[in-house]
Amino acid sequence: MLRYHTHPVTAFDQNCSLVWCDQTMQAAVIDPGGDLDDIVAVAQRLGVRLTQIWLTHAHIDHAGGTGELAARLGLPIIGPHPGDQYWIDGLPQQSQMFGFPPAKPFTPTRWLHDGDELTLGESTVQVRHCPGHTPGHVVFYSAQAQRAFLGDVLFAGSIGRTDFPGGNHEQLLASIRQRLWPMGDDTVFIPGHGPESTFGRERRSNPYVAD
Ligand SMILES: [Zn+2]
Ligand SMILES: [Zn+2]
Repeated sequence: MLRYHTHPVTAFDQNCSLVWCDQTMQAAVIDPGGDLDDIVAVAQRLGVRLTQIWLTHAHIDHAGGTGELAARLGLPIIGPHPGDQYWIDGLPQQSQMFGFPPAKPFTPTRWLHDGDELTLGESTVQVRHCPGHTPGHVVFYSAQAQRAFLGDVLFAGSIGRTDFPGGNHEQLLASIRQRLWPMGDDTVFIPGHGPESTFGRERRSNPYVAD
């Protein structure tokens, strides 16, 4: 079974999640934006072994600690989709603009595409490409656990910003309706910021995407 624990990091309270297979205790860290000592300490406390880094998109609060964590622990970097290459290239400028520590450059070990599958111990996770907030944004979905890790696509009561270069509001709405809603009303999602919710609840009450 896939289990997870969410730990907010950086000044933006970005929901960094540790997900792991409880048969093998192998874990992936989703979006290590910063506060790496905290992330490593949480992994130790949970008794899991970090084996992979998964990225939803390459904004600084999600990807800023990736290069350093990968180097420190020798981890592969999985994701995001190649559409975010320019955000990865721009991490040094993002660090300066938002007052983050300098981001160590990195190259993903594996780029992700819609429909890809990731293996974590004895669990598998589906990848969906959900452009709109950024062109290369992906989300991670476990049908077995009924959980989706969404980055900045959808929030409880809100949706991702689309006013950055490469953002596209219509594309974001299409990603949410065509790629998230089919995961089912009962699926719980973990957004990049703020509290968890379910797709059913957002379809009823989210002012941006309700049916
Ligand atoms: Zn973002
Ligand atoms: Zn964010």
